[in-house]
Amino acid sequence: DLVPIRRALLSVSDKAGLVDFARALFHAGVELVSTGGTARVIAEAGIAVRDVSDLTGFPEIMDGRVKTLHPSVHGALLGIRDDAEHRAAMEAHGIEPIDLVVVNLYPFEEVRRSGASYAATVENIDIGGPAMLRASAKNHAYVAIVTDPEDYAAVLNALDLNAGSLSLDFRKKLAAKAFARTAAYDAAISGWFAEALEIEHPAWRAFGGQLETVMRYGENPHQQAGFYVTGEKRPGVATARQLQGKQLSYNNINDTDAAFELVGEFDPARTAAVAIIKHANPCGVAEGATLRQAYFKALACDPVSAFGGIVALNRILDAEAAEEIVKTFTEVIVAPDATEEAAAIVAAKKNLRLLVTGGLPDPRAAGAMVKSVAGGLLVQGRDGAVVDDLDLKVVTKRAPSDAELADLKFAFRVAKHVKSNAIVYARRLATVGIGAGQMSRVDSSRIAARKAEDAADAAGLSEPLTRGSVVASDAFFPFADGLLAAVEAGATAVIQPGGSVNDKDVIAAADEHGIAMVLTGTRHFRH
Ligand code: 5GP
Repeated sequence: DLVPIRRALLSVSDKAGLVDFARALFHAGVELVSTGGTARVIAEAGIAVRDVSDLTGFPEIMDGRVKTLHPSVHGALLGIRDDAEHRAAMEAHGIEPIDLVVVNLYPFEEVRRSGASYAATVENIDIGGPAMLRASAKNHAYVAIVTDPEDYAAVLNALDLNAGSLSLDFRKKLAAKAFARTAAYDAAISGWFAEALEIEHPAWRAFGGQLETVMRYGENPHQQAGFYVTGEKRPGVATARQLQGKQLSYNNINDTDAAFELVGEFDPARTAAVAIIKHANPCGVAEGATLRQAYFKALACDPVSAFGGIVALNRILDAEAAEEIVKTFTEVIVAPDATEEAAAIVAAKKNLRLLVTGGLPDPRAAGAMVKSVAGGLLVQGRDGAVVDDLDLKVVTKRAPSDAELADLKFAFRVAKHVKSNAIVYARRLATVGIGAGQMSRVDSSRIAARKAEDAADAAGLSEPLTRGSVVASDAFFPFADGLLAAVEAGATAVIQPGGSVNDKDVIAAADEHGIAMVLTGTRHFRH
């Protein structure tokens, strides 16, 4: 099932890696055929290439709208080499078989994102490219189709291993990728139409959304994944405009959502706020007079984890904040908008994705959250509880000071966005220790305290930042031990929902240590 590669047709919009790939194919004895712009780039590099018009006997016409749409090309792609009639037709019409097709499409998605005119967007709907992609992918029994410049190296490697041939297994994988590409391409085109005409997208799927992108992979490389959008106008990752950087991965989208939903809790008219997210949990959140100050405070909470994180801001990204953020390796920055100066600073980091959303999500808004279980979907309303709306009750002898109360509210706001069991230590409107996702609340408390010690060590401080902090718990303390762990770490005030049968013991323990405790009556489980 090896197909020797004798002739290749190259027609690419994204010319990255083209010359090196063409040269390597040429040296492997492959005859190169190509379309206008692609042929020019190859020829200018001093590599022999035939123009596709030479094959078709027909020039490119209509500004390139028709260049490869010709029986000499499509016969060469679709002909079944083992079928006598197909072979006879190829001979009778002088059709020379093509074994390898290298095509990537007009950049419709980028043009759409750039907000180009209607006519310019339509012009970037590639017709001949997808036709070749689909024809070669269908005929993968005889033809190999390459759509992604990142696969050039693998193709050369495979050619090398198989003495100039490509295996059926490899061709099948390439074909599957080609159809995933045209599916995503057409989804983008029909999505653009639906948007322009304000009609419902034709491709609504079982999960209640329309396919926006087919991702390279899911949470892990062996999982397939797609991004379906629901059409909800909530500012966030689904509706954001990406100003620069690579395509968002599955994990990027998940984390960016977590990050932006969190900063949506902070009213930009009241304060600047920054959240740094790793694996859908915050590793630092802070309020500040400016975004730059808030970022510094957020970063100090856990600078080790912040590496490779996602940074969300509740105000327009400005130059002074951008300058600080780009100093740490960051995957995504998401903000309501960015100043031109800030965007230019971010632009120096080519791979860093910058998303602007046009606004902040309303933390109180209704909406559905969906999660799949074997054989079904679990649906619930969004957690719209906001600490400012809750009836806070002081249950200890000592009431919190104003500064403590501000920190308590801040910590509970953050705890809503930390996976349960969540423990958040905060001081001066910044997190100083976060414990997430533990099966025991005491463990979350200990982890949060230990992280605060690490951060203090890293900053060369003599004592952990939890000294004189406050602590928030997403759900009640079932026993006094969780509270005592917080006391030991140096917390002076606690906010938690209450409602445990052991509340009395927990309150007594707080009183014994002079702790001020506030009950919210509302919990924030998040699993
Ligand atoms: P080039 O830069 O080589 O002139 O053009 C390459 C691009 O043209 C590729 O993105 C390819 O998908 C596209 N293409 C190839 N053949 C045709 C065709 O017949 N019609 C249209 N509209 N696009 C084509």
